[in-house]
Amino acid sequence: MPPGRNAVLEREVPAPAAATAVERCPLCSGSRRTVLHRLRDPSGRITGDFELLKCEDCAAVYVSPRPADAALTALYDEDFYFSTGWSYDALAEWVMDCIQAARRRRVERHLSSGRLLDVGCGDGRFVQHMARHGWEATGLDFSPSAIVYARRSPSGGRFVQGTLEDYACPGASLDLITLWQVLEHIGEPRRLVRRCHSLLRPGGVLVAAVPNIEGLSARIAGERWWGLDVPRHLVHYTPGTLCGSLESAGFRIVRVRHRSIQYDPYGLLHSSLDRVFTRRHFLSDFAKRNAMDGLPPHEYAYNLAALVALAPLLAPACLATTTVGALVRQGGFIEVHARRR
Ligand SMILES: [Zn+2]
Repeated sequence: MPPGRNAVLEREVPAPAAATAVERCPLCSGSRRTVLHRLRDPSGRITGDFELLKCEDCAAVYVSPRPADAALTALYDEDFYFSTGWSYDALAEWVMDCIQAARRRRVERHLSSGRLLDVGCGDGRFVQHMARHGWEATGLDFSPSAIVYARRSPSGGRFVQGTLEDYACPGASLDLITLWQVLEHIGEPRRLVRRCHSLLRPGGVLVAAVPNIEGLSARIAGERWWGLDVPRHLVHYTPGTLCGSLESAGFRIVRVRHRSIQYDPYGLLHSSLDRVFTRRHFLSDFAKRNAMDGLPPHEYAYNLAALVALAPLLAPACLATTTVGALVRQGGFIEVHARRR
């Protein structure tokens, strides 16, 4: 998930003096658009207003202005990848393993083994899991802290720090490329998709998972939807815009999946609780043990009480709602499988 080439890992982000207005749609180059929302970075780490613009030609949604690469890169620190206050216990490890195993089973419907590149590999769990199951697996991430973390585990796989553009790899040499929650972070995705196409062998498989801006969760939560993640998510997709982008780069779509147990129910719960919290993203801050930072004790107590009282009621409702969304093919997060022609 490379917005920039050189990671500058620091907490304070300078004012976005170099933020640039996005004049044309990153997917179709159209210039006609309407404003969906005006938003701010909920964390306050990047100042200024951002517009979510919907392209009238292709229905892509994108953020303008786009923060400078250095400001964006600083948002991908350890907190982004890892829940830094909590040590994983056995149950959490088991859940994470189940998630990787489910991903592998979906991928292995198309290919049983081969050379895999996971772009935006984060903590490297998927790559390690695939390596343990016989894949020649490489993880690529622009973030040095992600790569250091991934290499700590002895469980296999190779990890490279950098961007796909600069990644040294012969053309048509890969069997599988995975982009788990990556494309929405890329301001100019067409270049990245073309590069994926050139690295895959003919018949090779690309898997791309993204939030769905047309999904039921996005419609219900509106400008509070967790999947918006302004200004880290730069481009938002619908099933149509994602498939269209891949097809125009030379891929054939083989599957569009609407169910995401990992992200969709939590995302809707997060967005729903944000309606009553005094500070947005209190739930994810709480999970990372950052929730007390900068909050007066009485406000923290109120938010904690709201969380304890409402989460048990809302969680089953969010699970049911997102299940319905998936069944009617309006999942909050989608996964597209495509083959290089
Ligand atoms: Zn467009």
